[in-house]
Amino acid sequence: MAANIIDGKAFAASVRDKVAGHVARLKDDHGITPGLAVVLVGEDPASQVYVRSKGKQTVEAGMNSFEHKLDADTSEADLLAIVDQLNNDPAVHGILVQLPLPGHLNEDLIINSIAPEKDVDGFHISNVGLLGTGQKSMVPCTPLGCLMMLRDYHGSLSGMDAVVIGRSNIVGKPMAQLLLGDSCTVTIAHSRTKDLPEVVRRADIVVAAVGRPEMVPGDWIKEGATVIDVGINRIERDGKNKLVGDVDFASCAERAGAITPVPGGVGPMTIACLLANTVTACCRANGLEEPEGLTA
Ligand code: NAD
Repeated sequence: MAANIIDGKAFAASVRDKVAGHVARLKDDHGITPGLAVVLVGEDPASQVYVRSKGKQTVEAGMNSFEHKLDADTSEADLLAIVDQLNNDPAVHGILVQLPLPGHLNEDLIINSIAPEKDVDGFHISNVGLLGTGQKSMVPCTPLGCLMMLRDYHGSLSGMDAVVIGRSNIVGKPMAQLLLGDSCTVTIAHSRTKDLPEVVRRADIVVAAVGRPEMVPGDWIKEGATVIDVGINRIERDGKNKLVGDVDFASCAERAGAITPVPGGVGPMTIACLLANTVTACCRANGLEEPEGLTA
């Protein structure tokens, strides 16, 4: 069987269009422009690229983008003061502190200082608790993007067996909570899981979020399963730099019913969901109806 390719690039474009449409209505009908503030500490090259692209897409969607670039040796007190200022700024509906932070800064402390209703990354402990108890929360962008693609492809996920490989706080755990929320039977597999191939073979839905290039071979995949590959791994092959996922695309695509490619699968959905979360936060802050299809 040749798998259907889930086109994350096209799907992300449709999410961005929906966001832009909603932003235009917020401006026209209510005179409100959603605003996203991104705080970058230091000069990590990958973080700089992400922040640039977040700012660009925020503006393209018609929203205000506020960028705060701070020196690598910024003190915790100074960073907390900036977050506090953004928490109290009514023009800012979403706040994102780009991770990783330099080693002298306590990431948990900083993330938990963001007002939960402006925490568009969904990493604040309150949002983690709200998601875990099935209440309205801000949902982490990458798992939200995966959920949107799964819902779009399958309609209902109810009763499906889902295996999430990886238990990180930013992908694996929230992904598992979202699948549980959609009534899947969920297994979280990780580095200590016994007989991972057998666990994965049970799955109707496999979400791989490990960070190991092409770790999942096709013979772990149940015939017809849906494979969502979150991994972004840079490797060198035939003298060229290449981006590959956590699953071996060629062999998995032979057995899967549907699969996301890398690049062009989950990756583009992450920033699209950040924009969606900013609009959602703006609507909630103003007591307005939330856009349909942009939240969990
Ligand atoms: P992480 O390093 O925080 O977590 C990796 C998880 O994989 C851990 O829970 C670990 O238990 C598990 N693991 C490690 N080795 C394993 C093994 N041999 N078998 C089974 N499980 C194993 O990583 P993360 O932040 O969750 O990211 C995972 C991948 O997703 C990375 O490649 C990252 O670059 C990518 N990522 C992509 C996006 C995106 O926008 N598409 C966003 C976030 C992360």
